[in-house]
Amino acid sequence: MRLPVALLVALACAGCAPTRVEPALPEHWGVDRTAEIRRSLDARGARNVILMIGDGLADEQITMARNYYVGAAGRLNLDRLPFTGAITTYAVEESDPSLPDYVPDSGSTATAWSTGMKTSDRRISTSARSDLPLETILEMAQRAGLRTGNVTTSDLTDATPAAIAAHVNHRKCGGPQTMEKCPQYRKSAGGLGSISEQLVDNKVDLLLGGGRLTFAQKIDGGAHIGRTVRESAEMQGYRVIEDTAQLAVVTSLDDGPVLGLFADEHLTPRWSGEWAKPYPCSGPQACTTGQRPPAQPSLAAMTNKALALLDGEPGFFLQVEGALIDKRAHDADPCGQIGETIDFDEAVAVALRYAAEHPDTLVIVTGDHAQSSQMVDSMDEKDRTPGLCSRLTTSEGAELTVVYGTNVQGRLQQHTGAQVRIAARGPQAASVLGIGDQTDVFFLMAAALGLIEPPATE
Ligand code: MG
Ligand code: ZN
Repeated sequence: MRLPVALLVALACAGCAPTRVEPALPEHWGVDRTAEIRRSLDARGARNVILMIGDGLADEQITMARNYYVGAAGRLNLDRLPFTGAITTYAVEESDPSLPDYVPDSGSTATAWSTGMKTSDRRISTSARSDLPLETILEMAQRAGLRTGNVTTSDLTDATPAAIAAHVNHRKCGGPQTMEKCPQYRKSAGGLGSISEQLVDNKVDLLLGGGRLTFAQKIDGGAHIGRTVRESAEMQGYRVIEDTAQLAVVTSLDDGPVLGLFADEHLTPRWSGEWAKPYPCSGPQACTTGQRPPAQPSLAAMTNKALALLDGEPGFFLQVEGALIDKRAHDADPCGQIGETIDFDEAVAVALRYAAEHPDTLVIVTGDHAQSSQMVDSMDEKDRTPGLCSRLTTSEGAELTVVYGTNVQGRLQQHTGAQVRIAARGPQAASVLGIGDQTDVFFLMAAALGLIEPPATE
């Protein structure tokens, strides 16, 4: 039996009211969809691009969140884009860039869609082995006069928000006092500086996320030597905001760029619960919601503000990242992971609503790499996982058993190497159909914005 989504949502979530967006889903594939698909095709260029990244969000993780929150036959907002495909996410080896590294990290993957180039793990928009800076889609958009935004729930210097607008050989080099792995990039050595310095020096119009402690580090060279990165930002015209109340007050970019630092490090995950543990598993449990302090915005609130500020001529490029899906998975924390997937999904609803009102907007929703969490059948003494497991009671009253099996208890769970889903709507969105590679996302976005010439076809 297939219950209507609206009914399932009502059953599942009295009081939590997930945001509904158009386009509605067809009820059955048995109804001819040709006309509907034709209506979604748009061969024009895009004025705006919104790139939405769920860190550690592949099919297994999407399905877990869907099962838990809207039920197995329900649909999330990220299920509501008209075109869906998959992308491969492999990196290359630093020692020999001609060899693939099948399980990537967030540095190599973000470099792929930011620059169109494969690199090795932990690099931030620099080339494997040769350590050359690779121009990013955000920098190209900036050069073309577009407004730019970079929004995340992690420290703004974490790998994903770093790679879209900074260049360094190692992701750990977030602030000027943590440059042990990147000495050649120090400003005191004549380099571009740490990731935080580069985000500010690159004058990204809008930077929203966490990272107060990183931006409080003192700069060791150049014109702002002895100042903190935050002070340097203010000297370069940035308005620094620190909570939801201050975010609400910002209504325009006319008074200069905006740097939102809403947490010392990463934002607080919205849900919590028992972490997975060896058989007989944690749980059965329902997740505890409402854990993010009100002073810290949801990803949807940040996305909504970013779109209000970036909206208008001549257009914009915006990256939005749900960063903590991955971080909660590393800790084998299924409630944290699912809650952050829902935080991300609500931001997708905001982007889709904007795109419905601004059809010249290309929206892309994807993940950067797969993660270790898997759904398994119920276990007993005879058949049980050697991994860490948790039993969740879903919103529709069923048991969802989640297993993390890529590391032992007490150590971080690790990424996995599966292809990830990509979905899109708007101009040139049909390009995501079928199987592509993460680097193709760069070429799609750059071509849609008119930043590169489309390849000649005979
Ligand atoms: Mg990330
Ligand atoms: Zn990770």
